[in-house]
Amino acid sequence: MNTQFFAAWIEEIAATVRAQRDHLTQLDAAIGDADHGANLDRGFTAAQEALAGASPQTPGALLVLVGSTLIRKVGGASGPLYGTAFREMGKAFGEAAEITPAELSTGLNAALSGVQRLGAAAEGDKTMVDALAPAAKALGQAVQDGLKPEEALEAAAAAAEQGARATVPLQARKGRASYLGPRSVGHEDPGAASTALLFGALKAAASR
Ligand code: ADP
Ligand code: MG
Repeated sequence: MNTQFFAAWIEEIAATVRAQRDHLTQLDAAIGDADHGANLDRGFTAAQEALAGASPQTPGALLVLVGSTLIRKVGGASGPLYGTAFREMGKAFGEAAEITPAELSTGLNAALSGVQRLGAAAEGDKTMVDALAPAAKALGQAVQDGLKPEEALEAAAAAAEQGARATVPLQARKGRASYLGPRSVGHEDPGAASTALLFGALKAAASR
């Protein structure tokens, strides 16, 4: 996976987030403040513009730029959290021109650690971690099992989707939704839902 692949991923994310903007906003309206779709649309549109302006030469530089742009442009909890995730993945990639599935797995684990260091959410707290952690784990397992890259990304995307759906019966313990206490039960977490979209976009970028 080269720089072009990661640029295609960001393009796929921006298109998916734009298409799902209202859906993400509705999820956030139920247990938050109805801005998650708008936040991410603004962030990934800005990220695409930043990439077009700077033409980064390595996957690592590209992802660090995406992360910094998200931190700068997205208000709310999700901007710094997603920004950190992309920055940490980019830093883990270093100067490499080509990223193997095993390196992608390492990068995703770095992203997960960054999100948890910043947000202190564990699995089961009804946050984006509930989609990110199983996806990172599934990719690691797929790499270990020697699956083809497309199959590994498929496994990660499926795990993220399943993780997002599994947030529905949970009570939120982190973020704005936690203020609702038991009333947060019965709704999918918006950040977990958007994380599933990011992994769907990764799979789509691989099958381009
Ligand atoms: P805000 O809650 O500030 O309005 P967004 O609506 O953009 O920001 O994002 C909300 C999402 O952020 C939540 O659905 C949740 O997945 C994620 N989130 C919030 N707090 C945390 C945290 N401490 N750790 C991980 N994810 C979090
Ligand atoms: Mg919100």
